[in-house]
Amino acid sequence: MSTIWEDVTFEKRESLQGLEVADCTVIGAGLAGVLIARELQSRGFSVVVLEADRVCSGATARTTAKITSQHGLIYNRISRQIGKTQARLYYESNQKAIDRYEEIIKAYGIDCDFKRLPSYVYSRSNVYNLLQETLSATNAGAKCRYTKDTSLPFGIRGALRFEDQAQFHPLKFAKALAKNLKIYEKTPVTRIEDGKVLTQSGEVRTQYIVCATHYPIINIPGFYFLRQHQERSYALALSSQTKLDGMYLGIDDGHSLRSFDGGIILGGEKHRTGKNTKGGCLCRLKDFASENFEGAEILGSWSNQDCITHDGLPFIGRYSRFSPRFFVATGFNKWGMSLSMVASELIADMICGRKNEYEKLYTPARMNIRAGAGGFLLDAGSSAYHLISGLVSKKERKCPHLGCRLQKNPDENTWECPCHGSGFDKTGQVKFSPAKKNIEKKQG
Ligand SMILES: Cc1cc2nc3c(=O)[nH]c(=O)nc-3n(C[C@H](O)[C@H](O)[C@H](O)COP(=O)(O)OP(=O)(O)OC[C@H]3O[C@@H](n4cnc5c(N)ncnc54)[C@H](O)[C@@H]3O)c2cc1C
Repeated sequence: MSTIWEDVTFEKRESLQGLEVADCTVIGAGLAGVLIARELQSRGFSVVVLEADRVCSGATARTTAKITSQHGLIYNRISRQIGKTQARLYYESNQKAIDRYEEIIKAYGIDCDFKRLPSYVYSRSNVYNLLQETLSATNAGAKCRYTKDTSLPFGIRGALRFEDQAQFHPLKFAKALAKNLKIYEKTPVTRIEDGKVLTQSGEVRTQYIVCATHYPIINIPGFYFLRQHQERSYALALSSQTKLDGMYLGIDDGHSLRSFDGGIILGGEKHRTGKNTKGGCLCRLKDFASENFEGAEILGSWSNQDCITHDGLPFIGRYSRFSPRFFVATGFNKWGMSLSMVASELIADMICGRKNEYEKLYTPARMNIRAGAGGFLLDAGSSAYHLISGLVSKKERKCPHLGCRLQKNPDENTWECPCHGSGFDKTGQVKFSPAKKNIEKKQG
C-alpha cells in the first residue's frame, strides 16, 4: 500500500547532459529544494536544481504535511537548554513560515487543500510536561492555550492548543512551484568543487550551491553524520467518519492525527532507524486505529524517516565555516514543512548579503553544548559500536556509507543503518540516504 498523496503526478524532466551555467545550484528537489530554488529565482538569480531521482520522491512524498509552529514540546526544551530569546525566535520564524505559505498559495493560485486549523499536543497520562510547555510557549509569544476540550475520539488528560496553524497537500503545492523551475531529474550529484557541481554525465558552473538532499551528501567538512541520526515512523490513512477540528500530536503515546479529504491520517510508532529488529510497529499502529476508529478502512499505509539533531533545531546556513558559498538545509526533526520555508528565506537572504534575524539560531556552526552534548555522545557511541561491529564481522551486512553494521526492519522488509539511517530493500538496493551505493552482492 502507498501514501495518499500519490494522486499527483509530476511532469518528467530530462537528466543533465553536458555543461550548464547558473548563479545558484540547488541539490535535491524535495520540498526544501523546491522552496529554496523558488525563492532564489524570485530574487532574480538563475537557478538549476539537480535531483537524484524524481521531484519530491523522497521524504516529502511520505510526510503528513502539517504546517505548524507547534513542534512537540520544543519551547520548553529550547527555553531550558538554549535560551528564552531563541525560543521566541523559533516560534516567530515558524509562524511567519505558515503565513508565507498562505501568501505564496494565494499569489500563485495553488489549489493544494491548504486549510488553517489549530494544532494540539495532548497527553493521556501526566500533564506536568504539557503545563511546562504551555508556560514556555506563552513566554515565546505563541498564541496558545491549555485546554481539555478536543475532538479526539478518546479521552485525554490535557492539551495545548496553538492557533493559526495549517495543513495541506504537499505534492499539489510542490508541483505548482516546480513547474516554473529548471530541474534535472535522475541526476545524482557525485562531487562538488569550487564553483562546480559534478554529476556522472555533466556539470553546472555556478556561484552558489545549496545542499537540500535531506541528509547532507558531503561528510567532510560539515560532519553532519556525527551531529544527527534518523528516526522512522509509520502512517495509515483511514476512511474514518470522525471529524477532527485540528491537528494532533500525543506527547506520551506519540500518535499524530490530522484529517484529509477522505478521512484521517494516523501516524506514530517511531523508532531510531535500525531499532525495529523485532518488528511490530505497523501492527501496533493498526491496533490503535481499530480501537479508536471503529470500522475504519485502511486506505493507505506508509512509513517515512527524518533527520534528528542533538539540540532539536535544524541546520540551516553555511555548510561549514570553510565554505562561504555552499549552504545546507537539513535536520528538520520531522517538522520540515515550516522549516523548509524558513530555510528558503534564510538561505536566500544570506546569498543576497541581507541580515536575517534567524541566522544565528539555525547556523550549523552553533555549539549548543547543554542541549546537544547528551545526544552527541549517544550518537557518537552508537556510531562507534556499529562501525566496529561492521569492521570485525565478515558475515554481517554493512552499510556502504561508513561501514556500520545494518539491522533488519521486518515491518518494511528492509535493512537499516542504526547510526546514520541509510536504508536498503531486501535485494540490497539503496532506498534511503546517506548511502549512495547498493549493498555489495557478496554480502547477500
Ligand atoms: C512520519 C513522518 C511524518 C512527517 N510529518 C510532517 C508534518 O506533518 N509536518 C512537517 O512539518 N514535517 C513532517 N515531517 C518531516 C518532513 O516530511 C521532512 O522534514 C521534509 O519532507 C524533508 O524535505 P527535504 O526536501 O529536506 O527532503 P526530501 O523530500 O527527501 O528531498 C531531498 C531530495 O534530495 C534528493 N537527493 C539526495 N541525494 C542527492 C544527490 N546526491 N544529488 C541530487 N539529489 C539528491 C533526493 O532524491 C530527494 O528527492 C514528517 C516526517 C516523518 C518521518
